[in-house]
Amino acid sequence: LEETFEFDVIVVGTGPGGIGIALKAADCGLKVLTIEKNELGGTCVNAGCVPSKGLCYMSHLADQLSDCEELETYGISAPKPTLNYPQMLKKIENAQDYHRNLVLKLFQERKITHVFGTAEILKPHHVKVIHRETKETRQYSARFICLACGSKPSLLPLAPVDPDFVYTSDTLDSVKSVPESITIVGAGAIGLEYGSVFSRLGSKVVFIDAFGSIGGNLDAEISHYQQIYMESKGITFHLNSKIENIEINRENRTVMTTFSSESNGRENVQTSIIFLCVGRTVHSDWLPSEIQRTNKGMIYVDSNFETTMKGVFAIGDAIDGPKIAHKAEWEAICLVNYLANNTPVPSRDSVCLPCVIYTQPELAAVGPSEQALKAAGTPYTTHLLAFNSIGRDTTQTKSEGRCKIITSPLFHQGVVEDVIVAVHYWSASAGDLVAEAILAVENRIPLEFFGNVPHAHPLFKSLRFMHKVDLYSTSLQ
Ligand code: FAD
Repeated sequence: LEETFEFDVIVVGTGPGGIGIALKAADCGLKVLTIEKNELGGTCVNAGCVPSKGLCYMSHLADQLSDCEELETYGISAPKPTLNYPQMLKKIENAQDYHRNLVLKLFQERKITHVFGTAEILKPHHVKVIHRETKETRQYSARFICLACGSKPSLLPLAPVDPDFVYTSDTLDSVKSVPESITIVGAGAIGLEYGSVFSRLGSKVVFIDAFGSIGGNLDAEISHYQQIYMESKGITFHLNSKIENIEINRENRTVMTTFSSESNGRENVQTSIIFLCVGRTVHSDWLPSEIQRTNKGMIYVDSNFETTMKGVFAIGDAIDGPKIAHKAEWEAICLVNYLANNTPVPSRDSVCLPCVIYTQPELAAVGPSEQALKAAGTPYTTHLLAFNSIGRDTTQTKSEGRCKIITSPLFHQGVVEDVIVAVHYWSASAGDLVAEAILAVENRIPLEFFGNVPHAHPLFKSLRFMHKVDLYSTSLQ
C-alpha cells in the first residue's frame, strides 16, 4: 500500500532557497509546509545581503556628499554630512521587517503552511519539529523534504566568538556603536563590504588575509585596483598573512592579533574588535548520519539535488558551490521543476553565476579569472579597458573603472571563433553592468558581436565599447 503524506513538500529554511522552493512549488499546485527556526528571510534578510547592502549604500551616499570641494565644481554647496550609526541600524531593521512581512504575505497568498520551529529529519519523508513559541513537538510528513538550511560563518579555532571583541556576520549587528578600530580577518566579499562601511564611519580598518590578493577567487589584476583604492582611503591590507594568536585585553578593551607574513615575518596589530570573515560552513549538527557530506563538509547531493537519504533534497548554501543568494534561488527553481514536472536539472557546472562585491567602486565578475584559466592551461586572450575615457564618463570628472574581458577559441561547426568566456569589472554600478556580460558568457558570444548591436548613447560603460578596445586601451595608466 502506498504511504500517504500530509504535504507534498516540506521545506526546511526560509532563506532565498527555501522561499524559492515554497513559492514555486505552491504555484505548481503542490501542498507546501515551510519550517524556520529563526526569522523569515534566512541569512540574506537577517544577517547578509539586506544589512550589508543597506550599510554600504548609506555610508557610500554620505561619502559621495562629503567631498564638498568636488561638489562645488558641480555648482553644489552643502555642509559635510555626518553618519548616525544607530539610525542606520534602525533603517536596516525597518528593511528587514519589510522583507519578513513580504515573505509571510507571499506564503499566505499561496496557502503555504508555515511553522516557526527547529526541524529534525527522523527518517525518509518524516520530520520532527520543536515549535519555537510553545516548545511543543510535532511530526510532519511529505513526499519530498527539501533542505534549504543554509550555512553559518566558519570560525578560527584560535579566535572563538566573543560577545564584546570577536564577531562574525551573524553577531555583528550587536555592535551598536562605531568601533575606533577593527581588524578584519578575510578580505573576501563580506570583509571588503563591511571594511568599506566601517572605514566611512571613521574606524581604522586593517585586513589580514592568507591569500595574496583580495576578493577571494576574483581576477587578481582587477581586484588589485580595488585594493589600491581602499588603501588610498586609509585601509591597511596584510596579505599572504596567517593569524597566529589573538589576545583579548578586557581592561584596555582591545584585542591584539599576532600574524606572520611571508615578507615581514611576525607582526602585531591592536584593535577594538575583530571581525571574522573566513568562509562559511553547513548547519550540520541536526542532520542524521545517513545524509552524507562532501569533502568540504557540505551536504552531498546528486545531479538532481537528492541527498543520500531518498526523498530528501538539498540546495543553496547547504551544498557545495558559491554561497550566494542567486545560486540558491536558481537551484530552487530547478529543483521544483524536477519534482513537480520531472524536468531534468541543468548541469550545475555549466551555469554562469555572477559574483558581485558591493564596495565602491564595485567588483563584479562572471566566468573564471585569468589566473584560473592559466592554471587550467586554457588558451585565452585578455582585453583591458579603462572606463574613464568613454561615453558618459567624460562628463563626470571622478568616474573611474576597469573592465577585463577574456576570450578563448571555441571550435564550432568546423570554425574557430574567439568567444567571451569571462568578464571582470571594477567600476561604479559593476553589479548592474555584469548582467550584459552574463548573457555574453552564457551564450559564448564573440567580442565583435557587441560592436554590431546598438546601445543607447551616451552610456557609462557597456561591452559595446570593447570591440574598440585597442583604441581605448592607450588610456590605461
Ligand atoms: P539561508 O539564507 O542561510 O537560509 C537558511 C535558513 O534555514 C535560515 O533561516 C536558518 O535559520 C534555517 N534553518 C537552518 N536549520 C534549520 C532547522 N533545523 N530547522 C529550521 N530552520 C532551519 N549573497 C548574494 O547573492 N548577494 C549578496 O550581496 C550577499 N551578501 C551577503 C552578505 C553577508 C554578510 C552574508 C553573510 C551573506 C551574503 N550573501 C549574499 C549570501 C546569501 O545570504 C546566502 O547565499 C543565501 O542567504 C543562502 O540562501 P539559503 O536559502 O541557501 O540559506
